[in-house]
Amino acid sequence: MKKHIVVQKFGGSSVANIDRIKVVAQRIVESKKRNNNLVVVVSALGDTTDDLETMAFSLNKNPPDREMDLLMSTGEQISSALLAMAIKTLGHDAIAFTGPQVGIKTDKAHTKARVISIESPRIKKAHRDGKIVIVAGYQGLTEDQEITTLGRGGSDLTAVALAVALKAKVCEIYTDVTGIFTTDPRKVKNARKIKTITFEEMLEMASLGAQVMQARSIEVAKRFNMPIHVRSSFSKEEGTMIMKRSSKIEDVAVRGITSNSSEAKVTITSVPDLAGVAAKLFTEVSKKDVNVDLIVQNVSHTGLTDISFTVPQKELSKALSATKEVARKIKAGKVTSDKNIARVSIVGSGMRSHHGIAAKMFATLAKNKVNIDMISSSEISISCIIDEKHVKKATEALHKAFQLDKIK
Ligand code: ASP
Ligand code: MG
Repeated sequence: MKKHIVVQKFGGSSVANIDRIKVVAQRIVESKKRNNNLVVVVSALGDTTDDLETMAFSLNKNPPDREMDLLMSTGEQISSALLAMAIKTLGHDAIAFTGPQVGIKTDKAHTKARVISIESPRIKKAHRDGKIVIVAGYQGLTEDQEITTLGRGGSDLTAVALAVALKAKVCEIYTDVTGIFTTDPRKVKNARKIKTITFEEMLEMASLGAQVMQARSIEVAKRFNMPIHVRSSFSKEEGTMIMKRSSKIEDVAVRGITSNSSEAKVTITSVPDLAGVAAKLFTEVSKKDVNVDLIVQNVSHTGLTDISFTVPQKELSKALSATKEVARKIKAGKVTSDKNIARVSIVGSGMRSHHGIAAKMFATLAKNKVNIDMISSSEISISCIIDEKHVKKATEALHKAFQLDKIK
């Protein structure tokens, strides 16, 4: 029988300490007995990556990207080597590789590099020799032999990209929750596990704040139609299948609700209502590498208008300085900012065919006395920016209104 390839990824919490590494090693050996050629991608132990980042910033407020990648990629080298050792103790052969060693080539965008290609003769050779292959996640190499990392949460991307390159049957993501939930189960106790979800819904949920998987990894899975099974590394329970839209997936209007409190709002007042002003503003902001998300421009009655937009909180100071500069040049009014905002979003491909979804969302928030500051929507999601202190209440109310607590 031809052996099929399965890629498994274990997140940081699954390998947080020596005892957990032993448990994961045991689990990998059991999968191997089921006749698979295994590639196991691993994240850094527990909070290692955060700790490395903290160390860097304590030495340098603006650490060089190149050295940052050199530093941040070491966490996964540790965990992959330890995991291979643990597997060998169980009497199975394993070999650990770094990203560069298995031919993961990336572009030069340090700290958020994109995978360009994977040439992995060493993985194939190791499989022929009957070895379990362990790969350090989150890293690759540029054509100039520089080490890069793939953005936070990038081990997911390593796993999906390897699964695609090796034509694996499935990419299994082992984590500390039993799957994807209708909303964050730590915040809403009636959250339900979702059995199946489409790539586009998962992508939307991840970009809007669901923290189970890195958004870019889902983009790649979608593009190459690589099914993903998100499941717990601590239990045998079936998790959530992320897959192409099909009749296997239940038709609901709203699949899930996300919230995100990591954005801030910038407002520039009394902007002259002239052609080219918005272009000037957002050109300057983007030159500072700030990701602008939601934009609202008020209707002007007086020839002056207000423009508000949201940015990641981490990029607020850069955004503010660019905005203030433009404000001065175009003779606009004050520039203000607000960190106490949050976004609640409802997501579901079913929105395309169900009616009244937006109205129901707004009515539910109104009934709960949650004021809506900004609104945005895509084909399969609607987001409202609200006061951060209402997030929990808003999420719970929406979860109930769209009957997500009734899912079996
Ligand atoms: N260790 C990296 C991070 O924490 C990559 C990953 O865990 O996927 O972001
Ligand atoms: Mg992670």
